[in-house]
Amino acid sequence: MSNVSFRSVSKTYGNVRALDNLELDIREGEFISLLGPSGSGKSTTLNLLAGLQDVSGGRVFIGERDVTDLPPEKRDLALVFQNYALYPHMTLFENIAFPLRAKSPVPSASDIERKVRSTAEALGIGDLLARYPKEISGGQQQRVALGRAMVRDPRVFLLDEPLSNLDARLRIRMRRDLRALHAQLRSTIVYVTHDQSEAMTLSDRIAVFSDGKLQQLGTPEDIYYRPANTFIANFIGDREANLFPVEISRVGDRLELAGAGLTIRLDRALDAAKARSALAGIRPDSVELVAPDSSQASGVAEVVDQELVGADLYVFVKTGAGVEICSRRDPRQRLRLGEPVGISVRQGDVHLFDASTEVCISPGDAGILERQE
Ligand code: ADP
Repeated sequence: MSNVSFRSVSKTYGNVRALDNLELDIREGEFISLLGPSGSGKSTTLNLLAGLQDVSGGRVFIGERDVTDLPPEKRDLALVFQNYALYPHMTLFENIAFPLRAKSPVPSASDIERKVRSTAEALGIGDLLARYPKEISGGQQQRVALGRAMVRDPRVFLLDEPLSNLDARLRIRMRRDLRALHAQLRSTIVYVTHDQSEAMTLSDRIAVFSDGKLQQLGTPEDIYYRPANTFIANFIGDREANLFPVEISRVGDRLELAGAGLTIRLDRALDAAKARSALAGIRPDSVELVAPDSSQASGVAEVVDQELVGADLYVFVKTGAGVEICSRRDPRQRLRLGEPVGISVRQGDVHLFDASTEVCISPGDAGILERQE
C-alpha cells in the first residue's frame, strides 16, 4: 500500500524549476531516501510533503487523503531537521514530552511519563532524561530530537540531513542506530541526504534526483548494479564510473565492444537497440589489472597514477588510445608508474548507455541481484 504519493508535482521559484513533474509513490513502512547533489530538488520535495511550501502544480497524498492544501500541522507528519534545536532550559524528559503537552486534550501525567520513558528507552537515552541538552553529546542530542518526533506517533517521519552536524565516525555509528530504530518502529521514513553511502546503507529504496527530476527509484542494489543513466552511474559509488564511447558489433548472440583501445566481448544480446555505438560504463571495482599478455586482457595500458585510500588502491592507467581508466585494487598489489598492464573487465558489470540521451540501454547482468532474490 502506498503511504505518500506525489502526482505530477512541480515547484518553480521565478524561472528556476526546483522540481519537475514528480511522480513518486512511497510505501507504508518503508525507509526511503531522497538522494542527490546540492540543488537537485530533495529538500523541495520534502518541504512540499511537509506543507512548508506550496506546490506550483500537481497533488500530494498521504494515505487516501489529498493534503495539497492542508497546513503542516494537519498532515500528521513529524520533521527532524539538521538543526534540531532542543530547548536548552528544559531537561531531556521535558524536551521529549513537549509535543505531548501541546496536544489537546493533554494526556495524563502518567501517560506522558510512560510514553517519554518508552521512547527514550528505544533510543538508548533512558538514563539521561534528567539532564539538560548541554550536558549530552551531539549524537545524544540527535536522539532526543528523534524522540521528540516519535512521541507523536506520526504517519510519516521526515528527516532532512539529520546526521550532517555529527562528526564522521558518529554519523556512521548513527546509521546502524537509525536502521535498528526503523526495524523497531516500522514507520514510513523519508530521509533527505546528499551522501550516497548513507542512502545505500539505510534505505529500502532510494529516489535519486538531479536538476529537479527524479532520475531513478529503486533498491540500493538496483541503483548500484542497474544505473538508469550515466548520471546515476557516476553519482552512486565511491568513484565515478569509467565512461567511454564504443562501437558495437554483433557476433552471433554476443556483442563485441571496441573503444578506448579495448575490445570487450559480452555474452549478451542487445534486442531493442539497433545501436552501433554507445557509451560503456564500468565501475573501478569491475576493472582488474592483469599481465599485459594475459588471455583475460581486453587491451593494454600503462600505469599513470595511484591513489591509496585506506583499504583501497585506485590505479589510473592510460590505454593506447589515450583514455584513462580507473581500477580499484588491493593496496598490497601496488604497481609502478609507467608499468604496462592488461585491462580485464568483468563483463557482467558493463553497462551500455545511449550515446546521445545517456539513458541505459543494456545494464550489466548483476548476478548479485539474482542471488539475493
Ligand atoms: P537540494 O535540497 O537538493 O539541495 P533544493 O530543493 O533546496 O535542493 O533546491 C532545488 C533548486 O531550487 C535549487 O536550484 C535551489 O537554488 C532552488 N531553490 C530552493 N529554494 C528556493 C527559494 N526559496 N527561492 C529560490 N530558489 C530556491
